[in-house]
Amino acid sequence: PRSRPAAIFLSRTTVQLRLHNTLTRRKEAFAPIDPKRVRLYVCGPTVYQRIHVGNARAFVVFDVLYRLLRHLYGEQNVVYVRNITDIDDKIIDQAAKNGEDIRALPERTTADFHADLAALDCLPPTHEPRATEHVPGMIALIQRLIERGHAYSAEGHVLFSVPSMPAYGRLSGRNREEQIAGARVEVAPYKRDPADFVLWKPSPDGLPGWDSPWGRGRPGWHIECSAMSEAFLAPLPFDIHAGGLDLIFPHHENEIAQSCCAHGIDQMARFWLHNGFLDMRGEKMSKSLGNVIRVPDALARAPGEALRLHLLATHYRQPADFGESALQDAKRTLDRLYGALLRLPADPGAADPVVIDALADDLNTPKALAAIHDCLGEVNRTGDPRLAATLHASARLLGLLHSAPAQWLHGGEDVVAAIAARIAERLPARPAREFARADAIRAELLAEGVILEDRPDGTTDWRRA
Ligand code: AMP
Ligand code: ZN
Repeated sequence: PRSRPAAIFLSRTTVQLRLHNTLTRRKEAFAPIDPKRVRLYVCGPTVYQRIHVGNARAFVVFDVLYRLLRHLYGEQNVVYVRNITDIDDKIIDQAAKNGEDIRALPERTTADFHADLAALDCLPPTHEPRATEHVPGMIALIQRLIERGHAYSAEGHVLFSVPSMPAYGRLSGRNREEQIAGARVEVAPYKRDPADFVLWKPSPDGLPGWDSPWGRGRPGWHIECSAMSEAFLAPLPFDIHAGGLDLIFPHHENEIAQSCCAHGIDQMARFWLHNGFLDMRGEKMSKSLGNVIRVPDALARAPGEALRLHLLATHYRQPADFGESALQDAKRTLDRLYGALLRLPADPGAADPVVIDALADDLNTPKALAAIHDCLGEVNRTGDPRLAATLHASARLLGLLHSAPAQWLHGGEDVVAAIAARIAERLPARPAREFARADAIRAELLAEGVILEDRPDGTTDWRRA
């Protein structure tokens, strides 16, 4: 076995973070442009429906990245922006379907989103811009694109001219035919090229709209992220832009086109990270396939922390399967981890370098979890509270073990104290051979799911059934 105690005192000053960059299709050493201001942008949800656990995978995975960046560069030195897309045709359609106010629906869905991510113990981002608050920035960007010859207006629409950018398609590696097929962009008479995409479109009265040089209208989805990222992360390029695999094309490709052409630069972000899909019985979990499980449905089956652990058990770039039994396994794993902390309360320690190294290797969470598991074995074998502290700090890097152990295992300190009091009540009964009384308390506790284990030395251990 590895020598754990030595590892505790080994302090690492430099850990080389390596991340897989979709732009270059390989793992690269990461160095922030400004280590005092490490800049991360993650595309947030379109708030027309509550997120499902597939969407949650993206937010949990990049929450681990955020925690790791904070660990490596200092909490104050990381700026994390995750937007809320609250202007979108999907929102307009869904509000009409629900007969709901066009402002009330995104408001309500955003509140649900916050509740779902809190249940999954995701840290709030540094900034959470809403598209509706950044329309002037979008208009300014579109104007720059027109001035530079990368966009044109026609019939109240403004379109990005794809042929105006020779480097278009670099991120996704798609050729022109694949771009046109994949974008599924409508053929419209006002388009000069079938690959051109919408930056701005007219909005009739009664639908959300803003005054612009092109008339009353609303922005396209892609320009929203270009404007919101630069509002908080300028100057471009920033360090990392992330999202799910399905965002590579057209969304991220178009963000790059807009931001680079508006500013005459060749990079919007240095690193592009994409998580794989969460599948259900071999198929991508998605609303169109109808196989979605929403976060509250999953929370009815297991605590949020078990869902989080389940989502992190697979490497973020691999496809992952959502499964009931794996969710219950995650719950039992957490029971064992919390059990160790309950027996060995310890001040938070330093994280295990093996765990840090695993995360620094392109967020290898399965490897980090295996190291945490090894650490648990040694905590249980040695009973060393310093190791328990290492275990705790390592799990916190993954956003796990935030609860009080007594709360997780037994519903709180009060419950634990009450059980201890009844065990104490039972103790004097036994030497006096009042077995009936002792057995009655044992039976009462068992009915509440508490199993007593009398030891030869007269003490009593207990555990949950
Ligand atoms: P959306 O609200 O559809 O834009 O999705 C929000 C985030 O979830 C995006 O980063 C998507 O790429 C991601 N996403 C959507 N479906 C899945 C899935 N089944 N597995 C993993 N990520 C997903
Ligand atoms: Zn985006």
